[in-house]
Amino acid sequence: MIEKLAVLYLSGFDHRRINKDTAPYVHSLSEKYPTAKINTLLETFMTTTIWTGCYPYQHRVWQVRIKEERDFDIKNTLDYIPDIITTTFQCLIHSITGKFNLAPVPDWRRRRFDIRTTKYLWRDSKVPNDLSGLDSIFSILGRDNYTYVFEDKFSNMIRTLSKQFVKNKKLEIFEGHGMDVFTHWNIDNEEKMNGAYKKLDDCIRDIHTECKNRGITLMLFSDHGQNKVEDTIDISAIIKELGIQNREISYFVETTKARFWFHSDSAREKMLDYLSGNEKGTLLHFEEMYRYNIKFDDDSYGEYFFVSNPGIVFHPNDFYHPLGNLYLALTNKDQRNRIKNPIIRGCHGYLPDNECEKGFVMLLDNDYRADRKEIEIIDIAPTILNLLGYDKPDSLEGVSAFYE
Ligand SMILES: [Zn+2]
Repeated sequence: MIEKLAVLYLSGFDHRRINKDTAPYVHSLSEKYPTAKINTLLETFMTTTIWTGCYPYQHRVWQVRIKEERDFDIKNTLDYIPDIITTTFQCLIHSITGKFNLAPVPDWRRRRFDIRTTKYLWRDSKVPNDLSGLDSIFSILGRDNYTYVFEDKFSNMIRTLSKQFVKNKKLEIFEGHGMDVFTHWNIDNEEKMNGAYKKLDDCIRDIHTECKNRGITLMLFSDHGQNKVEDTIDISAIIKELGIQNREISYFVETTKARFWFHSDSAREKMLDYLSGNEKGTLLHFEEMYRYNIKFDDDSYGEYFFVSNPGIVFHPNDFYHPLGNLYLALTNKDQRNRIKNPIIRGCHGYLPDNECEKGFVMLLDNDYRADRKEIEIIDIAPTILNLLGYDKPDSLEGVSAFYE
């Protein structure tokens, strides 16, 4: 059993970049300590799944569901105003009051959905994002036994990392989301990317040395890498081109995944005809999503899904608004490239069998071994509980990655 576990969760740290040149220290660790690849999900938002050990179709966080009432013909006065005006207004209200989760989605589409995402209701540094009263490693350990620090700017991350893991708690977690954000906007600049990996690699070396000196076990993991973006798909332009009316279709578009609900046979036929065999992605009926661990009972979370191929993103999508783009470009140095071009440079969230979607976990303790080469993302929570000597509740289906 481990007395004290320090977890470094580095979202976006790409296992394909761990080599002697780009990340020499992490590369040397991967040869010395137990390591496994992580098989992830067809999702861009992973934190709730990681800490609760439940799949998104179970915890439903970050999900969009269509309302039962399907009479979408009734017009509201707002519907006569162009979308760009109403969404700009929503974004402005959001920036002042924090209201409007997903402000870029126009009202006529928003009111068809129950949206359960937390994108713009970002977490504070003490509490992990939306866990919604579910069993999680935090509820099991209890408030006094862990700390959680979240950092989503790369430069801050490098600065604050050296001050971590000094709180004398059983479990201390640092979620460095900065590498993911940095990669989203700089993957097209190899020199900058290599520089960032080198900086982080140096930082990990220092932390590991410090942890060893103080008898703390360090666990390092990443939930995915990223692929360079080369092309886009514009769903609303396709709908217009196919002559489908707003009342005939509902859709929700993330960067790599679009969901559709059809309200007329002709809309279904036109769209499916266009998307099946389309070389830019894969069309999946909701039941075909089961093989990717997305097992909704019915089509209320999407009748059909279209997942783009690596290197292709949906743009515009339901997280994009020109005003939001400008705000993020001006307030976050890592995202300054948004000014030149609002299309994301790197992305993840593709079909899980693609290498860019694979994560990895390393436990820097040779008293343990990894008994599987590849684990599932829901195995992270049971792994942490097992290492700290806690029993796993029944709600967690996963299995520990490491054993003594
Ligand atoms: Zn990301």
